Amino acid sequence: MSRPSSRRRLGLAVAIAGCAVAGPSPAGAQEAPIAGFSAERAEQQRAYEAAFSGGVSAENIGQTSRRLSDRPQLIATPGVRRAQQISVDRLRAYGLDVSTPGYSVYASRPEDISVTMTAPYRRELATKERGFEWQERFDEVVEGYNAYSPAGDVSGEVVYANYGLPDDYAALEALGVSVEDKIVLVRYGGSFRGVKAQQAERRGAKGVIIYSDPADDGFTRGPVYPDGPWRPADGIQRGSIQYIFNYPGDPLTPGTPSVPGTPRQSPEDAKNLPRIPTTPISWGEAQPLLESLSGPDAPESFRGGLPITYRVGPGGTEVRLDLDIAYEQLPVSNVLATIRGATKPEEKVVIGAHYDGWTYGTSDNTSGWTAVMEIGHSLGKLLERGWRPERTIVLAGWDGEEYGLLGSTEWVEQFQADLRENAVAYANLDGAGGPEFSAAGVPQLDDALLEVTQSVRDPHTGRPVFETWTAGGKEAEVGRLGSGSDYTAFLDHLGVPSLEAGFSNGASSGTYHSAYDDLFNMEEHLDPGFLGHAGSSLVTGVTALRLANADILPFHYSDYAAAVATYVEELKQVQQETEGAAQVDLEILLEAAQGWGKAATALEARAGELLASGDLDGSAGARAAARINRVLMRQERALIQRKGLPLRPWFRHQVYAPGLVTGYAVQFLPGLRDAVEQGEEAIAAEYRDLLLDSLLKAQRLAWRGAGPQA
Ligand SMILES: [Zn+2]
Repeated sequence: MSRPSSRRRLGLAVAIAGCAVAGPSPAGAQEAPIAGFSAERAEQQRAYEAAFSGGVSAENIGQTSRRLSDRPQLIATPGVRRAQQISVDRLRAYGLDVSTPGYSVYASRPEDISVTMTAPYRRELATKERGFEWQERFDEVVEGYNAYSPAGDVSGEVVYANYGLPDDYAALEALGVSVEDKIVLVRYGGSFRGVKAQQAERRGAKGVIIYSDPADDGFTRGPVYPDGPWRPADGIQRGSIQYIFNYPGDPLTPGTPSVPGTPRQSPEDAKNLPRIPTTPISWGEAQPLLESLSGPDAPESFRGGLPITYRVGPGGTEVRLDLDIAYEQLPVSNVLATIRGATKPEEKVVIGAHYDGWTYGTSDNTSGWTAVMEIGHSLGKLLERGWRPERTIVLAGWDGEEYGLLGSTEWVEQFQADLRENAVAYANLDGAGGPEFSAAGVPQLDDALLEVTQSVRDPHTGRPVFETWTAGGKEAEVGRLGSGSDYTAFLDHLGVPSLEAGFSNGASSGTYHSAYDDLFNMEEHLDPGFLGHAGSSLVTGVTALRLANADILPFHYSDYAAAVATYVEELKQVQQETEGAAQVDLEILLEAAQGWGKAATALEARAGELLASGDLDGSAGARAAARINRVLMRQERALIQRKGLPLRPWFRHQVYAPGLVTGYAVQFLPGLRDAVEQGEEAIAAEYRDLLLDSLLKAQRLAWRGAGPQA
């Protein structure tokens, strides 16, 4: 799926930029300290990281990618099973311990997708790309369709509704145009596609067509495939419209793993299933529909990149959507490779990427998965030399991500008791090839990420990744996680600190979920030489090794507390500016966030003293470090409330969740904020109190770690 866009500026970035280039190479002992390590152990860690980095090979990643990219890898097809077998064989050959836990998930399978323009003239629309001679097994590329669309046969007049978001419908209403009983034509962009289906459903539309406008990812942006990476006239963006903002994973088993014996609800009751037929088309096929529309001229913001007059309808264009989509239980199966920790084997750092794809999936997500496997390749060589991490590292290849984060969600639900107790962090990679660096995660990891980018070299430049990140005077910004990839269950359901940091190419949106997300596009346009892939392995691998080996986890919750205070201030602003907003008192939250910040700062000082004393191997020092580590792991967990968010109890995190209308992008303080904006006084007060409870718990934990050690 894709990345969130909400970002926070790192105040530290500029100050630190000046010393970012110190150190000869990632290899070699360096004087610079590493957060969470004593001076002596930092030296060992540098050597470990140098050995790890030396084992990461762009060439090997390329070989793996070529092997996986020559066949489509859609869920529950022979192609994805073959990809799994190749992955398992490779990881075993690297010397790793591999298992493949499986689940049976309720999901859709397209039988026949048919879209016909019936007025003003008859035209059958293409529902698949034409393909090129270098694309093997093109017959296995699935027809363009939206996973979890219901089957249906609907006909009627078309209304064009821009991105299909609430503001767009308000603009239509101002023009006197209703979509009730109409088929809504919308363009991709601005939000997760499931939101578009839901917004149309709520307004009484009987069907939805989603097309890719060239202004968003086609010729307006640059040369199109195969001459460039942007979307050609026949490129279709497939994709799930599951209501993942309600809950991801198996629609019939929210909160529990879909293994034999788990009770299943009926599909009619499943709150993450869309209810009106929805299907995607290319801009080449959308153009005749748009051209024939009558009715008012579209508002400025509705106009895309086609050389036509955009009108909103209704009138002129009519279509028939005949979607023959079967529903059945489909198998999904993850790939888990475990490197057992030497001294703290029960504690786990999980690194994951989905290995299923819509088509050939070379960018989404063979890139992320091969980068994760390469971490295993290098760590396997170190294992042979007797190097073992202190904590356990789990490498996870997730299946069924494209349909609704299926494999990762079911796995997290299955092992939630252990993960809640022992998971240190989850690092995700989804789209890991290209020249641009970006990072997103929870705030207590900001400093650690920054530090990693100062010591890891960008394979493109040989210079620290930090320089790539801040090239052209950009500030280093760590985004916050919304949803749209496999960190969702870890962070939002369990409160496991999560991050996603790596290289990518913004132009990958041009072939996103189309038949043209293939090896040719990767090698020609997105990531020649697989250098970005290797950079993603390095950054994520070194981050994981630091978390796995740290004497004291490098979690700076003082940054988290400061971020929460900012979100509360923002919400106060919203309260003042929004008519009818719930006026609950938020001052008490600010005090709690400040209190947590104070406690976290004291804890960080205490951790610093302990590390500086070098007394970590003695039994008192080791006990003190273990105690601090427990409270560091538990502070994120304290932000989880069992009750969950209003109307979507699966989402339990009180600080971050995907927005109800943005889908991918993050909503801060989600339960409280939604209630405040909707003027729901009682619910706002309830969620204010739940958030307060979480902040006070986190504060108490921090003081416990900072206090005099028993
Ligand atoms: Zn993906």
